[in-house]
Amino acid sequence: MSIGELRHITIIGAGLAGALLATLMARAGWRVDVFEKRGDPRVQGYAGGRSINLALTERGRHALRMADADDAVMRQAVMMRGRMVHALDGRLQLQRYGRDDSEVIWSIHRGDLNITLLDLAQKAGATLHFDRRLDSVDFDGSVARFADEQAGGFHDIGFAALIGADGAGSSLRGAMQREENLGERTEFLDHAYKELEIPPSANGGFMMEPNALHIWPRGHYMCIALPNDERTFTVTLFLPNQGDPSFASVRNGREAKALFLRDFADAVPLIPELEQDWDANPTGLLATLYLDRWHLGGQAVLLGDAAHAMVPFHGQGMNCAFEDCVSLARHLEATDDLADAFAAFEAERKPNALAIQEMALENYVEMRDKVDDSGFLLQRELELALQQRHPQRFVPHYTMVSFMRIPYALAQHRSHVQRDLLVRHTAGRASLDGVDWAAVDADVHAQLPVLEEIEG
Ligand SMILES: Cc1cc2nc3c(=O)[nH]c(=O)nc-3n(C[C@H](O)[C@H](O)[C@H](O)COP(=O)(O)OP(=O)(O)OC[C@H]3O[C@@H](n4cnc5c(N)ncnc54)[C@H](O)[C@@H]3O)c2cc1C
Repeated sequence: MSIGELRHITIIGAGLAGALLATLMARAGWRVDVFEKRGDPRVQGYAGGRSINLALTERGRHALRMADADDAVMRQAVMMRGRMVHALDGRLQLQRYGRDDSEVIWSIHRGDLNITLLDLAQKAGATLHFDRRLDSVDFDGSVARFADEQAGGFHDIGFAALIGADGAGSSLRGAMQREENLGERTEFLDHAYKELEIPPSANGGFMMEPNALHIWPRGHYMCIALPNDERTFTVTLFLPNQGDPSFASVRNGREAKALFLRDFADAVPLIPELEQDWDANPTGLLATLYLDRWHLGGQAVLLGDAAHAMVPFHGQGMNCAFEDCVSLARHLEATDDLADAFAAFEAERKPNALAIQEMALENYVEMRDKVDDSGFLLQRELELALQQRHPQRFVPHYTMVSFMRIPYALAQHRSHVQRDLLVRHTAGRASLDGVDWAAVDADVHAQLPVLEEIEG
């Protein structure tokens, strides 16, 4: 078939990835239809997401720049310079993420971001169909069936290719799985989360330092808070499902308040509706989704959470989904064969998705248990020293993941090498005094080639 006949895609899901991909493809001259099960959030308000705000980092920002969306999004973003660690006794310590304000992350409101991207997709020429839930797919006849969530009944729509941007519970993935075994595996974390809110202060300002991601690390569990530009914070408590404390032992708002008074005492006066929020808000589950295959020939492909949902502890799920969009758009433009484009996309992105899924799981332990640990802090001190001595070679883990666009798999590999080196050279020490710098430098040169950022 010629490219002229094929330049049409049908995207399932107008969430974060679906809306960005629609913008990229419509701007590249493709005919784009997007089907979303919810109503239009621009008309009826944003119908909730699992987390109210999200950390946006360089990978996501680069993808937004590719769609000329960065300026509009950044107008609503709040800068986060580092982690503000809240000790049990209320002491605060800011741990910067990067060297200076050129290396920061950004808090953005999920609903505002989605609305901004939907506007851009529509302006770029994509056709958005709301209240249309993908129900089933007839791959032989190339017809997708959508349930009309407003009027009832179904609509059968022909397609050239379906793109699944319909999130962790993807219906398209279910339909593909019925055609061919995708090798799907979901691993639930034995921890879940609950969201609470810190409102603005009486004079309309922020109740805590706004330019930080606040963390209350408590060993097996933790609380975090991200700022919103309307001067609120979204607080998320991550807790095990079993044990003490856990979602089994803290069963209602009253018991949650008691936990907070004991373990997060400085946060209690900031969350006036703690008990009500606890009882009203759902408890969110956390899982990692693995697939052996992301596409069905040239007929369907998955991306974002539909292909590789991950736990949120690196703040990279959306950032990774946005990178997927840029990659898929590039592969679709590079060939007139959809099956080739989907295969090349999967080959490029699957190992990287796996790497960030693993790093996200590891980061949970770091956030809840290590950020206030003296051994970890000494390793961090050595890390900063080595970054200064070898800026081209020793690039901290967080920098590679959050401030660069090198493949996640490469960041993961180098992080492992670096961590071994940090552990080895700080073992048995209380400070960096007496470190054998010649030996450390020799290790860096031998094990860490110069790291180049990817261009373009
Ligand atoms: C607690 C928490 C905190 C997080 N924090 C961060 C963070 O700080 N930074 C970060 O980068 N990521 C974060 N994430 C991850 C991020 O939320 C996801 O990776 C991101 O939303 C994935 O985007 P998506 O477009 O693939 O899926 P989604 O955003 O889930 O969008 C899917 C869309 O498809 C629609 N849909 C579903 N089924 C159908 C159907 N059958 N038919 C039609 N439409 C359908 C849905 O209504 C939705 O609009 C967090 C996740 C959680 C749970």
